[in-house]
Amino acid sequence: MRREPDYETGRFFVSPLLGCNARCSFCYIYSDGYGTKASFNEFCIADTIHYLRSHTQFRPGRNGSIISIGAWGDPLPRYNKEACRHSLHWLSELVKLQNPIQIMSRYELSDETIDKIASCNKYPAHILYSTSVSTFRFHRDIEPYSDSPELRLKSLEKVSKKGISTNVMVKPFLSSVTGSETNNFIDMFNKYGVEYCVIGDLLLDKKIALKLNQLDKIPIKVEASGSKQVLDCTSGREYDMNSSNEILEFSATLEKFGIKAFKKSSCVNSYILNKPNPANYINNDPHGYCINCGVCEQTE
Ligand code: SF4
Repeated sequence: MRREPDYETGRFFVSPLLGCNARCSFCYIYSDGYGTKASFNEFCIADTIHYLRSHTQFRPGRNGSIISIGAWGDPLPRYNKEACRHSLHWLSELVKLQNPIQIMSRYELSDETIDKIASCNKYPAHILYSTSVSTFRFHRDIEPYSDSPELRLKSLEKVSKKGISTNVMVKPFLSSVTGSETNNFIDMFNKYGVEYCVIGDLLLDKKIALKLNQLDKIPIKVEASGSKQVLDCTSGREYDMNSSNEILEFSATLEKFGIKAFKKSSCVNSYILNKPNPANYINNDPHGYCINCGVCEQTE
């Protein structure tokens, strides 16, 4: 399989691996024909770098576009060393561009992987490593083949101890599930030193809605709220939103316990780098992503 990078509002999304074994019920990749077995992207790293350099929207360097690794398949599937090494090779080539880089995984990381990520980081906050947790209680039902949330957070802590910036995506926020575990999130985030997170609504297509509705043991509310939202890593395709008011209470509670809650991971990058967000939500924000963290105002 072969996929060129995707682009949306200041961020480029590149995929060393296509397909993912984690089989999360809420994942968009399976509706696009990507399978449960990860394969190397035939649009190779040399093609990818050439594509980035030639793209009219690409800005090179530390102040340039954010490059996000892993849109169409988890880049670091622990059970497949060869696949992890392949993604880490892409990372080692991409860091030469000096741009801020995001990489995330739903798996535990091996020490070899953590050391390689650390060696690629060339300046403070060059690389932002993220993992993702939507539920501690029901993860085995909803994300059957990923590693447990606690193992993911343990790896995140190890990465952080190597001096790499880290973040947790509470994405998607699952109505009637994620909010009911707020205390558990706070305990786990405190235990593993999580300072930042990104909280995002569940986005639905027909296949995702069907899979989630089939999980009849889980009290999850799956219904489109009538609004649409863009999924950045699909080059800006619109999805139905399953928005929830619980998300506001959840974010406010995390903030009360000292965990800064953003709505976009590009904002975490900008906040840590103390540089304005190239997505420019401060001036153009139809979906209300900007939480006014202050970093864009002060540098306008
Ligand atoms: S000021 Fe708003 S848009 Fe800029 S980084 Fe902070 S939250 Fe994001």
